[in-house]
Amino acid sequence: MSPFPRRDYEALTRYHFDRTPVELDLSDNTNQWGAHPAAMEILRAADEIALSRYPDLYADALRTAAATRLGVPEACIATGCGSDDVLDSTYRASGGSGDDFVAVATPTFSMALPLARMNGMPARSVPWADALDDPGRLLADGPALVYVCRPNNPTGHVAPTDWVAALLDAAGENGPMILLDEAYVDFGGDTFASTAAEHPRLLVSRTLSKAFGLAGLRVGYAVASPATALEVEKSRGPYKVARLASEAAAAALRDSGGWVDRTVTACVENRALTFAGLYERGLEPIPSHANFILFRAPGADARADALAIRDRGVAVRPFPGDMPDGGDALRVTVAPWDMIARFFDALDDYRTSVGGGAG
Ligand code: PMP
Repeated sequence: MSPFPRRDYEALTRYHFDRTPVELDLSDNTNQWGAHPAAMEILRAADEIALSRYPDLYADALRTAAATRLGVPEACIATGCGSDDVLDSTYRASGGSGDDFVAVATPTFSMALPLARMNGMPARSVPWADALDDPGRLLADGPALVYVCRPNNPTGHVAPTDWVAALLDAAGENGPMILLDEAYVDFGGDTFASTAAEHPRLLVSRTLSKAFGLAGLRVGYAVASPATALEVEKSRGPYKVARLASEAAAAALRDSGGWVDRTVTACVENRALTFAGLYERGLEPIPSHANFILFRAPGADARADALAIRDRGVAVRPFPGDMPDGGDALRVTVAPWDMIARFFDALDDYRTSVGGGAG
């Protein structure tokens, strides 16, 4: 009799963090400037057919729009129900038997390690400091897949361009698949999308959940060689992306009205101001190329600090142990200034209450 649950799922839990309603949620790096207007227009105009019929098998509208925007052949795009789905399908397509494992530069996106276990593989975490020192450390013992987030969540740093080139060189054309997660690339950092379209061992994943403001639609895609994209879609399966999600995301990708550029510019400006505010308060923010900033937890206990700030109406995400020196950190999503001002009020009120001073 086969065991249920499968034994390697014992260490897994459902993904969860505190999502109880809060006045201002700056915990999940979504676009606080709103949703892409071109996508809203498609959703408002939806007819019954959009709901009563199945979508395309592999989200053709989304594929075409993503390929056109990035200037790569359509065969180089694999779509998914959020980039979570793209990552999941890529992990599954990369291994899962025998000694296969996934190497992950950490700290990073919280799903990067569990996704390995979900797909029947152990994960090995390689601290960012070691990986940056020598990208070859991510390749030790021959992983099936290497996950690198760039810009990285939660630190916001971007691994240097020549570091990625050195990693690809060291991996070689028959080495592990290198998965570059570019969820935040619209906010800073150069993209490897066109390299991925021509490289047999590089896959870039992208999402519409951040700069495009469409997290609720669940749309993501990968850019890779046609052969890799095909394997990822085989692993993903048909009918994943809803018809309206594919069409609304495609409209946002095609749009030339500048909404993404405007909100990214506003976000980058406020990121500098948010950084300065945290710096003035002595909270050691880490320079970020994304739409969030990691900083030292003011009371040195990330979970307790996040709860206390939440009690004051603002949700931020705790990251125990993720400061470069191993101390606890909090991550705040960059937002329009009234929201950031509200965040600083909550933070200062909390710091004053524990005697840290409002600074
Ligand atoms: N990658 C990174 C680095 C993320 O931070 C997130 C979401 N927080 C995702 C992927 C998943 O995004 P989605 O599934 O919404 O595309």
